[in-house]
Amino acid sequence: LFITFEGTDGSGKTTQIKLLEEYMSTKGREVVLSREPGGTRVSEIIRDIILEPENKEIVPLTEMILYAASRAQHVAEVIEPAVNNGKIVICDRYVDSSYAYQGGGRGVDLKIIADVNRIAINGTVPDITFFLDIDPEISIRRRINSTGADRIEQEKLDFHRRVYDGYKKLSILYPDRIKTIDATKSVEEISSQINEYIDELF
Ligand code: C5P
Ligand code: MG
Repeated sequence: LFITFEGTDGSGKTTQIKLLEEYMSTKGREVVLSREPGGTRVSEIIRDIILEPENKEIVPLTEMILYAASRAQHVAEVIEPAVNNGKIVICDRYVDSSYAYQGGGRGVDLKIIADVNRIAINGTVPDITFFLDIDPEISIRRRINSTGADRIEQEKLDFHRRVYDGYKKLSILYPDRIKTIDATKSVEEISSQINEYIDELF
């Protein structure tokens, strides 16, 4: 089973992933946690290139391809083998992030993103995706205040709003796979809503 979490920066993905991992573990399921960009040694190197605040000259197409390259390695090395072994893989971000950030945020043609990523993921599609839905104005402020911002987090609010609109459109396009969760609710409420969806899957 392959589960992904999506949402703007600071929407609470990391917190909810940890809680879901605990929930699955209490049920005796073996869970593999991963994140994008990253998840493997080489993918983390690519992540550092993408997020380094000094790499301002990176053009949108390069950024999109770097994410896809990082993802191809991640799928081949971690996700595909784990899913094939019957494990539950929970991933912080996946292809939807590319549609939202490089597509919605930076204007890369969605058809090109789809073509490149089809090659990168080689058929490994999430069974369920949780979109943590929160106004970027709230979530971004929360994030910038917490840690040093990476290259993308330093973007202006209207960039993050386009990313958010990208997610909204995706959630309308794929309502069966993408579950929209009101991320303004309490940590506990969000977590139990996610657990309910997961219980339905089993
Ligand atoms: O989720 P995390 O904060 O680890 O992601 C790292 C950064 O990469 C974030 O600032 C996120 O906005 C950005 N990102 C992106 N495009 C993607 C995936 C992540 O710009 N496809
Ligand atoms: Mg972030």
